[in-house]
Amino acid sequence: MTIRLIEADIPPAVLEVVKGLQDAGHRAFLVGGCVRDLLRAQVPKDFDVATSARPDALQKLFRRVIPTGIEHGTVTVVQRGAHVEVTTFRAEADYVDGRRPSRVDFHEDIDADLARRDFTMNAMAWDPVSHLLVDPFGGQEDLKARVVRCVRDPLERFFEDGLRPLRAVRFATVLDFTVDPATEAAIGATLSVFRKVAPERVHQEFVKLLVAPHAPMGLELLARTGLLEEFLPEALGSDYAAVGKAPKEEVPRLAVLLSHRLDARELVLRLRFPNRVAEDVAHLLEHQELPAPTTDDAGLRRWLSRVEERHALTLFEVARARGLEPAGVRARVEAVLASRPPLTTKALALDGKALMAALGVGPSPVVGQASRYLLDVVLEDPSKNTPEGLAAALKAWKPAGA
Ligand code: ATP
Ligand code: MG
Repeated sequence: MTIRLIEADIPPAVLEVVKGLQDAGHRAFLVGGCVRDLLRAQVPKDFDVATSARPDALQKLFRRVIPTGIEHGTVTVVQRGAHVEVTTFRAEADYVDGRRPSRVDFHEDIDADLARRDFTMNAMAWDPVSHLLVDPFGGQEDLKARVVRCVRDPLERFFEDGLRPLRAVRFATVLDFTVDPATEAAIGATLSVFRKVAPERVHQEFVKLLVAPHAPMGLELLARTGLLEEFLPEALGSDYAAVGKAPKEEVPRLAVLLSHRLDARELVLRLRFPNRVAEDVAHLLEHQELPAPTTDDAGLRRWLSRVEERHALTLFEVARARGLEPAGVRARVEAVLASRPPLTTKALALDGKALMAALGVGPSPVVGQASRYLLDVVLEDPSKNTPEGLAAALKAWKPAGA
């Protein structure tokens, strides 16, 4: 498998940083996710460099250094305009609360640094200059066997950081791996520590799981291990398979997962998704009921004017995922949309000023009433959406109470 590393495309800026460090007498490796991804013949999202050089030495060695997380030994080196994250070898000591290490010890050797990492596949280091792979915990073997396994003792690792159990499930889901039995068993035994993890950290892992192709498997695993009960018991027993049939995006997948919940908006916010996501999910769920196959085109236009155009097709995707899509309606909705009918008062051929003139009034609530009436008229018959057509329709209209 190391042949993949030797032949890997490593960005020149990253290589220069590694070489620069080594030429100055320090040790330097690529570590973590990028080594894992290269061994899997995947393109890494980012390349992390680990080094024996201390942060102060790093700041002297490179011209542009941003102290991104300098208290944990991480800086960003700007090289050829690219950002390269460089972290000093470290071991984390004294996890007092199962959340964050209370102290960071810098180290001279890579082994201590790899030993503090979560899973064997994430605990490898590659020297792209001398072509040396450091793999003290059998990461290559586990990658080949497609297994997520803790580095060393899973119970200890999960007691140290309560997020790791969720990361185990997330990696298994995203990579379509299994979780090693001892690692999985440790999840149930450390739920009290998971409970203390900040919701923002849970969010980051949960999103990745939710939009993965194998999300149903991940949700099953969350339910089986007790994790789901801890952070989203409301989703226990949902149709996980249906979630996997929805588009691989947050909003439709949340809508399927929480389709039975009237409090979906609050749940989505509690999971730390942005307001916009919560609003969209709530909107989808409010309009879950789709037009029946017998609905005529005017009925489809009226429905479209209520649901917001950008949600219309997602509503069909959500219904399809749940096996509830009405036959033949989606194609007709698409055809209606393609003809670009007026669906909002903004699309009327008479604007506010023209409407006031036609009504012979100044700004008044009557104008709003009239435009809603005209929208009804053009939803029924879009060909009436011309200045003359609307003026004619207005003649037949009287304001309420008049
Ligand atoms: P992804 O491709 O999803 O970003 P990644 O492996 O890069 O995967 P990150 O969360 O970016 O994952 O973390 C980078 C590396 O830091 C991991 O590969 C792992 O070695 C280490 N790591 C991250 N979080 C933890 C943790 N909670 N406990 C131990 N090690 C961790
Ligand atoms: Mg990463």
